[in-house]
Amino acid sequence: MTHRRPLIAGNWKMNGLSGDGFELAEALVDGMADVETPAYDMLICPPFTLIGGIAALLDDSAIALGAQDCHAAEKGAHTGDISAAMLADAGCDFVIVGHSERRTDHGEDDATVKAKAEAAQGADLIAVVCIGETEAQRDAGETLDVVCRQIQGSVPGNSIAANTVVAYEPVWAIGTGRTPTNDEVQEVHAEIRKEISGLLGEEVAQGMRLLYGGSMKPGNAKDLLALADVDGGLIGGASLKAEDFFGIAQSCP
Ligand code: PEP
Repeated sequence: MTHRRPLIAGNWKMNGLSGDGFELAEALVDGMADVETPAYDMLICPPFTLIGGIAALLDDSAIALGAQDCHAAEKGAHTGDISAAMLADAGCDFVIVGHSERRTDHGEDDATVKAKAEAAQGADLIAVVCIGETEAQRDAGETLDVVCRQIQGSVPGNSIAANTVVAYEPVWAIGTGRTPTNDEVQEVHAEIRKEISGLLGEEVAQGMRLLYGGSMKPGNAKDLLALADVDGGLIGGASLKAEDFFGIAQSCP
């Protein structure tokens, strides 16, 4: 069986000014320095405004840096937007694309998300492509159809495990304290891997990391991270406290 090294990714969303943001990053750097041989990769995705400063703080650390969004175009007349090349230039290794809050707040559809993921890959960033069903879709029994459609629509056709991570985040579990059962998470992740295998081939599917996101906390992380097709977590609220984020990271099998 392919070994997929877990990825513990923090999505800070629209949180953090220079004071508390840098303090959190410093606490994570210090915490990571104390972990002798981490069994996971750690990633933090602060808001754009803190990326330059945090890149400097992370310089000698094992923590990777990512952004929460990028534009699909390389450059040009897109006021207020940030390109993937700009993120790479600022020190990012990763970028989240297609988070459900972007899909909802900014009307991003699968085609937009795919274009952003292509831009990220083209700038040598690793795209963290987010997918997940709404509560109504789950209640209607459509979860597997929805995530498969999102994989087909949002993941570029030439993606490889080295430049793409998929995050399954049930929309109704984000920031709500609710999660699917462990069996439900495993069922969806297995289906996602099968769909990726059909799209990109079995070898890519076996190597690609699939993260679970949605109210992951130190108290539920161990069971979620032990699931066969869960290769880490995308963590919102609990990534804003160093202790909780490490509590999740240290739960990796
Ligand atoms: C997220 O925003 O990606 C997320 C999973 O948030 P939370 O952990 O707060 O549910």
